[in-house]
Amino acid sequence: MIKRTYKYRLYPTKTQQEILEKTLCSCCWLYNHFLEQRRNAYEKDKTRITCFDQIKQIPKLKKEKPELNQIYSQVLQDVPRRLDKAFQNFFRRVVENKNGKNQKPGYPRFKGKNRYDSLVYPQSGFALQDNKLTLSKIGSITIILHREIKGSIKTLTIRRTNTNKWYACFSIEIIKELPQKPLLENIPRKDCVGIDAGLTSFLTTDTGKEIENPRYLRASEEKLARVQRNHSRKKLRSKNREKSRLHVAQIHEKTTNQRIDFLHKLTNSLIKNYIFIGYENLLIRNMVKNKYLSKSIYDAAWGTLFNLLNYKAEEAGKWAVGVNPKKTTITCSQCKKIVFKSLSTRTHTCPHCKLVLSRDENAARNILALALSTAGTAGINACGVERILSTMKQEALSL
Ligand SMILES: [Zn+2]
Repeated sequence: MIKRTYKYRLYPTKTQQEILEKTLCSCCWLYNHFLEQRRNAYEKDKTRITCFDQIKQIPKLKKEKPELNQIYSQVLQDVPRRLDKAFQNFFRRVVENKNGKNQKPGYPRFKGKNRYDSLVYPQSGFALQDNKLTLSKIGSITIILHREIKGSIKTLTIRRTNTNKWYACFSIEIIKELPQKPLLENIPRKDCVGIDAGLTSFLTTDTGKEIENPRYLRASEEKLARVQRNHSRKKLRSKNREKSRLHVAQIHEKTTNQRIDFLHKLTNSLIKNYIFIGYENLLIRNMVKNKYLSKSIYDAAWGTLFNLLNYKAEEAGKWAVGVNPKKTTITCSQCKKIVFKSLSTRTHTCPHCKLVLSRDENAARNILALALSTAGTAGINACGVERILSTMKQEALSL
C-alpha cells in the first residue's frame, strides 16, 4: 500500500473565499471551545472527555451557534478528531519523557485565527469534475489539475497558505506491489553511489562529482534572508509590519517551491542513474553551517532530499540506505585509519596509505562502503529511521 498526497492550487471566487474564511473561523472557534472543555474537565476533577463525547455535542451546539449549520457535518466532526490527535501526541510525548527522552510535551494550545488554516473532508462531501472541485456547503471552485490523481482518494484537505492562497490536498492510497530490489551482490559497482552533504557544494558523490544548489535558488535564499532581517526591524503590530509579513511569506513560498523542484529533479536523476544510493542520515548529525545556506534551510533541504530519495527508491525497486555519518569524514576511505582534520581542511591526505583526495569525496566513499555493508542486514529496518521517514514522506510530498 502506497500513500500519497497530491496538491493542487484552488482559485475560489471572492464570495467562495469569504465562505471558506468563515468556515475556517467557525472551525477555529469549535476547536478552541472543545479544547477549553477538555482542559476544564481535567483541571476540575481529572475527567477525560473523549473525542466521541465531543462529536455527540455538535448537534446541540448547532442550535446555539447557527453558523455551524453552514458547515458540512463531516468537516465539523473532523475538528474534535484533530484536537484528539493533538492530545494523543501530547500524551505520547509525556510517556516518552518518562522513558528518558528529553523534550517539551507541549500541551495543546488555543489557536489564533491565522493559525487555524485547514479544513478536512474525511470521506465525502466533495467531487472532482473537469476543472472544478465541488465542496459541499461551499460551492464549485476552479482547480488546476496539473497532474493526474492515481489511486483512490481517502481524504481531502483544503488549506490556506500564509500568502492567502488556497490549495486542495488529496490523500490517496494505491494498492500496488512494490518492485523487488535486486540482490546486493548482483549490483555492478558503477551503479552504486555514495553521497555526502558537502560544506561548499550541496552534495558530493564518491566519484568526486559535486552538485551545487542552482544559482536561482541561492539568489532567492539570499533575498529571503535579507527581507527576513528587514522584517524583524519593523514595529510590532504596525501596518508596515503586516505588509512586510506578507512579503516575507511570499518570498518564502517561492523559495520553498524552487527548492522542492530542484530536489525532485536531483532525486529523479539519482534514481534513474543508480541502483544503490548510500547517504548520510542527517537526523543524527549536527550540521555545520554551509557557505550559502543557513543551518535550518540546509537541514530542511537535506531532510527533504532523503525523504524523496527513500520513497522514490522504494517505488522503483532500488536501494536508498541511510547511514550514521559519525567518523565518515575522518576515516580514510582506502586504509580505514583515522585521519583527523579541522573544518577548514578541504583535502584528505592520509599519512598511512598516502591517499590524497577531496574531503567530501573521501566522506562519500566511506558513506557508500558503510551503506553497502549495513544494507540487507536486519539493522536497517529495525533502527526506526525508515519508520520516521515514511511519515515524513507525506510531509515532504505535501510541501
Ligand atoms: Zn589511508
